[in-house]
Amino acid sequence: MAVIPPAIDRDSQFFWDGVRAGQLLVQRCTDCAELRHPPGPACPECGCLAWKAEQSAGCGTVYSWVLSHHPTEADAEPRVVVLVDLEDGVRMVANLLGVPVAEVTNDLPVEVFFTEVDGVPLPMFRRRAV
Ligand code: ZN
Repeated sequence: MAVIPPAIDRDSQFFWDGVRAGQLLVQRCTDCAELRHPPGPACPECGCLAWKAEQSAGCGTVYSWVLSHHPTEADAEPRVVVLVDLEDGVRMVANLLGVPVAEVTNDLPVEVFFTEVDGVPLPMFRRRAV
């Protein structure tokens, strides 16, 4: 099954440039210092349009997760999609790899890593030793 490349626009270009460089980048408002993700043009707290990119350590815990099933093509491996609370204070959605479905729980410690799927660089999460 082919991966659909992410939709990259001027608001998210920095994020995908970071992924290609092996960095998880998030936006910080230069007015009120709010950290935010996913990428967007304005701060949801104060409406400021100015921001800078900061590198996240990419460590966090699973807030919630689902076992995703493709509607027409069976996945070779179970596809677990996680919503992660990053220690920086933002949430991020990505796939979780290398953890059997029976061991996936909320609060599971995870860390980001980067891999290419069908030539598309993507951030994903894996279990983190604590
Ligand atoms: Zn702000």
